[in-house]
Amino acid sequence: MDKPSRLRPASWLVAAGRPTAPGEPLNTPLVPASNFILGQERAYARDGGTPTWEALEALVGGLEDGKAVAFASGMAAVAAVFDQLPVGALVVLPDDCYQGVVGLALAGAEKKRWSVRRLALEDTEGWVRACGEADLIWLESPSNPLLTVVDLAAIGQAPRKPGAILAVDNTFATPLNQQPLAFGATVSIQSATKFIGGHSDLLGGVATTRDEALWQALRKSRELSGATPGTLEAFLAVRGARTLALRLQKAQENAQTLALRLEQHPRVARVRYPGLPSHPTHATARRVLKGFGSIISFELHGGAAEADAVCRRVRLIRHATSLGGVESTMERRAAIPGQEHLPPSLLRLSVGIEDVEDLWADLEAALQ
Ligand SMILES: *Cc1c(COP(=O)(O)O)cnc(C)c1O
Repeated sequence: MDKPSRLRPASWLVAAGRPTAPGEPLNTPLVPASNFILGQERAYARDGGTPTWEALEALVGGLEDGKAVAFASGMAAVAAVFDQLPVGALVVLPDDCYQGVVGLALAGAEKKRWSVRRLALEDTEGWVRACGEADLIWLESPSNPLLTVVDLAAIGQAPRKPGAILAVDNTFATPLNQQPLAFGATVSIQSATKFIGGHSDLLGGVATTRDEALWQALRKSRELSGATPGTLEAFLAVRGARTLALRLQKAQENAQTLALRLEQHPRVARVRYPGLPSHPTHATARRVLKGFGSIISFELHGGAAEADAVCRRVRLIRHATSLGGVESTMERRAAIPGQEHLPPSLLRLSVGIEDVEDLWADLEAALQ
């Protein structure tokens, strides 16, 4: 099954990576193997891959319309992209960015491997200019946790320094809501831990590109760093991704409803959700995203203590970090070390696929 262009994404999610020959299992087999009988190209899993990893790569690669490399985690995929940089490179990073990526970039800067410049995500002109100067332009959209949506249509077309990489962390959008490569990005990153897996039971990552040389280099980086996906994790990621289209549709319907209701709630000071007309980058979101996603950030009147109390009082919504699972989770982001710059009462809610009335009842009770 290698003709994603004929199938729409929801069908591809179901069909991708399955065996096709008579007598083979209908489902993607879980193949725990470090090595293979010699005589064909595939000899050892760390460099040659396994059929189970390849099923995940086929699935995500088909959605992003590129060639994918699966990794042990989202951060392993991120690190493989940074691994491509020459010494002394310039990295431009968003002001609002996944903290692991910021940590990796700053650690490398401290070791003088590259230098880092930060830029506000809304500053489209700044990013267009950065494309002509930087070796790695790192974008995240919608961003974590402020949910700023980047004008990829403009930035993806900006002239770049030769050899420069435009990388987009597409974890929050998923390849269903945004296809960075179609906008001109060099590589698109997914933390498969989140929406692709969708059940909060695995760590995984995928980098996808249309650049054959970069694809080879990312595979080489995986081989040499050893950041290979777990077999069970790759199997679970494919299994979870079968329902991604349904899960995302339901979760973002729920999120839109909850965002509108939260905005009317007297204890809520501000709601950030790309689907709300009040969101600063709503107009951009309407242009570049196919859906607004299922993450909402909202602030309370009052401070950290009030927000912590809400986290303690929710029942159906679980007080937990991470996002993109079938279950709704919530946390106060400024409570996390390194995130103290965020508004103290900012709660990030990852909306799941529960009945929205039960979610609202839970939120309302917790906000009382
Ligand atoms: C979780 C996450 C990552 C890192 O992925 P891991 O699988 O946890 O390593 C990167 N970017 C974003 C936006 C994320 O949410």
